[in-house]
Amino acid sequence: ASQPEQEKEIIFRSKLPDIYIPKHLPLHSYCFENISDFSARPCLIDGASGEVYTYADVELTSRKVASSLHNQHGINKGDVIMILLPNSPEFVYTFMGASYLGAISTMANPFFTGPEIIKQAKASNAKIIITQASHTPKVKQYADENSIKVFTIDAPPEGCLHFSELLKGDGNSLPEVEISPDDVVALPYSSGTTGLPKGVMLTHKGLVTSVAQQVDGENPNLWIHSEDVIICVLPLFHIYSLNSILLCGLRAGAAILIMQKFDIVPFLELIQKYKVTIGPFVPPIVLTIANNEETVDKYDLSSIRTVMSGAAPLGKELEDTVRNKFPNAKLGQGYGMTEAGPVLSMCLAFAKEPYEIKSGACGTVVRNAEMKIVDTETGLSLPKNERGEICIRGDQIMKGYLNDPESTKSTIDSEGWLHTGDIGLIDDDGELFIVDRLKELIKYKGFQVAPAELEALLLTHPEISDAAVVPMKDEAAGEVPVAFVVKTDGSSLTEDDIKEFVKKQVVFYKRINRVFFIDSIPKSPSGKILRKDLRAKLAAGVPN
Ligand code: AMP
Repeated sequence: ASQPEQEKEIIFRSKLPDIYIPKHLPLHSYCFENISDFSARPCLIDGASGEVYTYADVELTSRKVASSLHNQHGINKGDVIMILLPNSPEFVYTFMGASYLGAISTMANPFFTGPEIIKQAKASNAKIIITQASHTPKVKQYADENSIKVFTIDAPPEGCLHFSELLKGDGNSLPEVEISPDDVVALPYSSGTTGLPKGVMLTHKGLVTSVAQQVDGENPNLWIHSEDVIICVLPLFHIYSLNSILLCGLRAGAAILIMQKFDIVPFLELIQKYKVTIGPFVPPIVLTIANNEETVDKYDLSSIRTVMSGAAPLGKELEDTVRNKFPNAKLGQGYGMTEAGPVLSMCLAFAKEPYEIKSGACGTVVRNAEMKIVDTETGLSLPKNERGEICIRGDQIMKGYLNDPESTKSTIDSEGWLHTGDIGLIDDDGELFIVDRLKELIKYKGFQVAPAELEALLLTHPEISDAAVVPMKDEAAGEVPVAFVVKTDGSSLTEDDIKEFVKKQVVFYKRINRVFFIDSIPKSPSGKILRKDLRAKLAAGVPN
């Protein structure tokens, strides 16, 4: 949409001065730039096995993977590797190894169903898939038909290779590749403000900038040092964990404690055993802590000095839980969106010279970036305390959506502003509050559910003539997807039939929670689903 004239745009910036960011460096060089200061210190701790890998180990192993990928398996600059793994050292080696080659990692949830994985593998043109044996049946046929090699980090089934094959390279015979700051290094998938999941092109420059905004400079937003132990329980296939835990942790020289899966007891045990100091969480983890008080109280969690929550709103009660259970911790929120690189704002409570934070605030915009709040009707930028769509500009944001110039154009405008689809306001102290979501996206425990994807799936059912999917509030998950469905004439389809039909085809968090039958889906004259009307119906009480 064309922007109306405005004399002077109202732009918000960090309270802290801009910093120098070495944007010319490829991501791996930047992350390992200061490694000589901490090369013998623990870098990765595998929570399950207790194995510890030093910075020197991790850097060398990543280079070995790079040289094997190139020399033995034909991976070159620009090629895509699909990482279909739970949190594991192999995830880290593959991601960093690909970076050395100028190759690109596309990450997906290993619990995706076959069709969900193959859609992404196809769209991103992945040349290699790295996974676990239990997930290979979902990809094997597609891989065979397309000459894609499948590696597993555990015993490989027939026709697959073991990850150790990728450790045979010497780590020194890397090809001479010229990596430009605008080359893509990570390709997570996100539906953004509308439609189906799309490949989000994050570049070397983008991720270097985002990590620097968090941990570099005199008084960074997220102060991590090389004595810190940061627990990595959030899935690395989501950019929040990959960026704010792994990449920030590496840059700072911290020990990254890897947990494959969140279970309350092992989680508490690991915090106590390794004296974890930094806890990057999401609201559902805090909720589990709140609901298991008796268990939680058996553990010493006093080592934690920072609790950062992101990916979804953290309510007041959960804030209190954190304060009670982590007596020595400072608590703050970060606000991210995959397309934004992902961090837009982060509280300054963790900084070396901290600022006080307010309950519910998502901090202030990161340094070296600009934020504005725009009126969704007029497109004009708004002053403090007024609600509008949050927009961000800076080197950290995505380059665009892969092979989708249309969607790119409707997300990043001609002046470089990324439109988030989130509604927020900035208060007198420059603190950002998110108050609503304009976009279609549903967030189940921080995981993305794209309504368009479920709607397309529902429409493949012969007895469904129209469908719309919207979020419904849920205490445990934050939001769950529910469907409004129009049946074909004479159909006797039930709610359970529809739930079952969807369940078989999607990962667990995309399952339809409720189905409401309706005569017609409310639509605008141009045929767009009026989601607001459906959300209002739900807000007014669950329809029968
Ligand atoms: P994703 O791309 O999966 O990281 O999802 C991004 C979306 O999650 C944002 O656009 C917001 O709608 C939501 N989100 C992320 N962080 C927060 C937060 N701290 N508070 C409220 N919503 C958030």
